[in-house]
Amino acid sequence: MNPVLKTPLTVPSDDVLSALKALGLTALAATLPAVLEQARTAQPTYEAFLQAALVTELTGRAERARARRLRAARLPARKTLESFDFQFQPSVPERLIRELATLGFVETATNLVFLGPPGVGKTHLASALAGAALDAGHSVLFTTLSGLAEALEGSPSPTAWRARLRRYVAPRVLVIDEVGYTRLTAEQAHALFELVTARYEKGAILLTSNTSFADWGALLGNDVLASALLDRLLHHAEVIAISGASYRMKERTALQASHAAQGAQRPATAVAS
Ligand code: ADP
Ligand code: MG
Repeated sequence: MNPVLKTPLTVPSDDVLSALKALGLTALAATLPAVLEQARTAQPTYEAFLQAALVTELTGRAERARARRLRAARLPARKTLESFDFQFQPSVPERLIRELATLGFVETATNLVFLGPPGVGKTHLASALAGAALDAGHSVLFTTLSGLAEALEGSPSPTAWRARLRRYVAPRVLVIDEVGYTRLTAEQAHALFELVTARYEKGAILLTSNTSFADWGALLGNDVLASALLDRLLHHAEVIAISGASYRMKERTALQASHAAQGAQRPATAVAS
């Protein structure tokens, strides 16, 4: 017993701790002193005490699972719908996006395709909806098309290749970002087709692209494959076409305007130097 700590009564016995650990109740083991202290002060019934202890373990498990899912999701940055300025981008159907945030699309394995030029918020919206799915307990994986294409090419054996493919088939929500920046090799194009086919009616794909569907033949280097892929991808899908100005440009313009305003306030000599 540690004489410095004035709370010897709340130090759990080694027997209890090792039993908790043997049962895998690590969250309860970690917080047991506090749980016991609370019980000593509040004097709950046996049943209420047991319930509090179990809830502690369940909460700890849920937090660990969430942290695990977040790490596995590889979301590039945490984007939310709250931080999306719908006024700036009126071509984004706000009502539809808010409805999608209730996550019916995850249950129905409906794909979401965000189309538009750079900077209009495609990745932001896809990440925000994927983040909402993650918060609701679904497994998520974020990848770019080039990352995906690299991961699925040049496999030593069909079995190893299937295992790699499974990584992208298993998550309930798969984000494929930046479709259109890289042209795929024949092998990569077939891999993408296999993936879309494997997820068809099973798991939602959130895809962002700056390329119109008409150009997917060139993207995949194969018109027949592209149309078969689009057929599956778009059968159960919401296509959100965004037109408008780049938000990045807006930020840059605002920055330049503020620099210009600062410059105007300075004396002419300072501006010239
Ligand atoms: P895209 O994927 O269409 O090229 P992004 O989603 O990456 O564009 O957006 C570029 C940057 O601008 C990101 O930091 C994003 O969070 C931000 N952004 C884009 N549109 C909006 C918006 N309407 N409101 C707030 N931030 C936005
Ligand atoms: Mg993007």
